[in-house]
Amino acid sequence: MDKILEKNGVNFDLSADQRALQDTAKRFAENELGPLAKELEESGEPVPHAWLKKYAENGFLGCNLPLADGGLGISNLDAMIVLEEFAKISVAVAFPVFESVAGPIHVISRFAKPYIAKPLVQAVCRGEKVVAVSMSEPDAGTALTDLTTRGRVEGDQIVLNGQKRWCSGAGHADAYLVYCRMSDDPGAKGIGAVLVDKETPGLTFGPPEKLMGFRGVPSADIFLDDVRLPLDNIVVPAGGFRLLMEAFDLERCGNATMSLGLAAAALGQSLSYVETRKQFGKPIADFQAVQIRIAGMAMKVEAARLLVWRALARNPDLPSLADTSIAKCFANEIVREVCGDAVQLMGGYGYHKEFGAEQRFRDAWGWGIAGGTIDIQKINIAGSLLQRRFNQRT
Ligand SMILES: Cc1cc2nc3c(=O)[nH]c(=O)nc-3n(C[C@H](O)[C@H](O)[C@H](O)COP(=O)(O)OP(=O)(O)OC[C@H]3O[C@@H](n4cnc5c(N)ncnc54)[C@H](O)[C@@H]3O)c2cc1C
Repeated sequence: MDKILEKNGVNFDLSADQRALQDTAKRFAENELGPLAKELEESGEPVPHAWLKKYAENGFLGCNLPLADGGLGISNLDAMIVLEEFAKISVAVAFPVFESVAGPIHVISRFAKPYIAKPLVQAVCRGEKVVAVSMSEPDAGTALTDLTTRGRVEGDQIVLNGQKRWCSGAGHADAYLVYCRMSDDPGAKGIGAVLVDKETPGLTFGPPEKLMGFRGVPSADIFLDDVRLPLDNIVVPAGGFRLLMEAFDLERCGNATMSLGLAAAALGQSLSYVETRKQFGKPIADFQAVQIRIAGMAMKVEAARLLVWRALARNPDLPSLADTSIAKCFANEIVREVCGDAVQLMGGYGYHKEFGAEQRFRDAWGWGIAGGTIDIQKINIAGSLLQRRFNQRT
């Protein structure tokens, strides 16, 4: 039976190399990152540069970027195996890995002029630079194609004006992939993306947003006031929105993996808690209601992992919209449930800031908003099943 499944491309086991990679990431994350995660949750500061260097020395940053550019050239699936281990510790410590294996640097690596892309990709892989993506605006969230930030060509420059919102990394990241409108074409047709260095005159940031979770992932509004850049900083010109969205499917798999890591950690913590916590003279694991809750959590974590891996195994280069939407939507839903179950199983300790479950629950919620909401993923899924696109405007 195993042979038949393998022949048909269905093999649920990791290879020996993948297991070794997973072990390496797990050991690093578990042995090194616990105290850092606590520190970042307290301070709200992002992973310091000295730590990024350490991540880089171990090969974790941009590990799925090309070998020639400083990555390890491993597959997207392998990179998500690494990311899950970091996400089990905390969102904040995993965020630089998330950005470098699934974030905007991949759009830059694919589409920017090589003389611009190569040094930036190398700097990300060396832990010297962080790149963030700035798509959303005050009046353009789900309706992203309503964005109004304008990129106007003047001679040999592109001049950006507008306001962005919710950018994770704003003020901290060294460079931004800014989605903007570069032609008078309405909707998606006029949209492209420009690479903006943090130090460019005219670029400023609003005060740090105070979010429910995601402490250690600073976010803020971005203001672009006559920001002038060479034309070569245009990464994707107007008309390339489809390319941007196809590349964004990798980011959505990263989002699903962050959710998966949080859920897997909540399950792991719950398993040891229910064995040690005693009530009525025995471990609470002996109560059937507890067993049923644990089993439900485990089923959800396992299924989420399979959906993420399937999306990446089916399309190793870039996962499809349908597979990604299913994986992201499922992982986003179950992480809220599983992290909520962990809080409940741990009773008062689950609700206490000291023990981690409370933080995980707050962090879990954000992933089903970031990168396209849960309901929008469902619209994508229905569209792919019914083989049509639903116009949300009519
Ligand atoms: C933690 C976090 C990190 C983020 N990081 C980034 C980032 O790095 N860069 C960036 O650019 N943005 C980022 N975002 C922004 C994120 O992409 C948007 O918040 C998201 O796309 C939703 O947009 P909105 O907040 O404007 O909500 P809205 O679009 O106003 O949606 C509000 C509600 O209406 C529902 N809704 C809207 N339209 C429809 C429809 N047609 N059918 C059914 N339901 C609909 C939505 O599902 C949602 O429940 C982040 C957000 C969060 C929470």
